[in-house]
Amino acid sequence: MLEFRNNYLQRLFFNLLTKDLIMQTFLKHFLTVLCLLSFLDGGFLAAQLNSRDVVERKEGVLRIIAFGAHPDDAEMQVGGSALLWGALGHETALVATTTGEGGHWREGGGPMALRRYDEAQKAAKIHGVKSFGWDIQGGEIDASVENRGKMIRAIRQWQADIVIAHRPNDYHPDHRYTGVLMQDCAFLVNVPYVCPDIKPLRKMPVFLYAYDPFQNPPFRVDIAVAIDDVVEKKLDALMVMETQFVEGGALGYLDPRTASTDPKVREELRAESRERFRKRFVQYADAARDKLIELYGQEVGSKVKYAEAFEVCEYGRELQKRALSTEEIRTLFPFIKKKEEKK
Ligand SMILES: [Zn+2]
Repeated sequence: MLEFRNNYLQRLFFNLLTKDLIMQTFLKHFLTVLCLLSFLDGGFLAAQLNSRDVVERKEGVLRIIAFGAHPDDAEMQVGGSALLWGALGHETALVATTTGEGGHWREGGGPMALRRYDEAQKAAKIHGVKSFGWDIQGGEIDASVENRGKMIRAIRQWQADIVIAHRPNDYHPDHRYTGVLMQDCAFLVNVPYVCPDIKPLRKMPVFLYAYDPFQNPPFRVDIAVAIDDVVEKKLDALMVMETQFVEGGALGYLDPRTASTDPKVREELRAESRERFRKRFVQYADAARDKLIELYGQEVGSKVKYAEAFEVCEYGRELQKRALSTEEIRTLFPFIKKKEEKK
């Protein structure tokens, strides 16, 4: 599931290896030590990587896996829900399907990939989730059979009940193809002789698209989650992603302040980003208002300020039956309750 750290470093060092024979011997040993350290550091992750084992399912624990194209997408789309699941003991994994190394205006390549990987790990600590990253260059993921296999294996390894990704209607090709990959996996995760090196899931997960504002076609809100109780924590997690939300990401050059190293300027940019996100999650709540009222009741639903929203992908458990019942939604999102049901 997580080959990013090992593969990236291997590539880096093997490039160097070709240059000098003496250096070669030294680096080979260095690399062995590095991989060992990486294994110790990775612990759980390395175990997942080096075997075809799957995580152990615990009774009553939901397992959610969300794929975002870049290290920040899944965090933006499901961070609040992940915190709410986590508070009830359910387990979420966020996977960045690319390194996102093109996502900065001033720096690029490996160093940016590593910075963004580290940011995702820091955000994961705040969100209380596991964070994984694939070693595919930002801007270059496609819906290949190889990448489909990667995603099928990740979903099986995580023993997912819920799988989330972008819709395939999105401005960014990495988002689009990550969404297509999820669609391509939706049936195959149950098929034994597709990726036969890892056992198929016995139960079909529910596949969901995370909210986006694109209009062609418009997003259908099937599930709306009030995130008011956790929004500050979600914003804390997003704000550690400084390459994007302090330094402005790929188009940061449009604001000359993003080049500043002055802590005061950086703080100002951070505060502006936080406010921008706050407004964005308010817009999501407004877009999902009807569903919030339906799921939380008129009194609570009409006052929810911040939300996340999801659309059901019809290729998963809901094969040919587009809508989940309210009861099914409450089983998968057990924190969604009407006021009178709140304990
Ligand atoms: Zn993205």
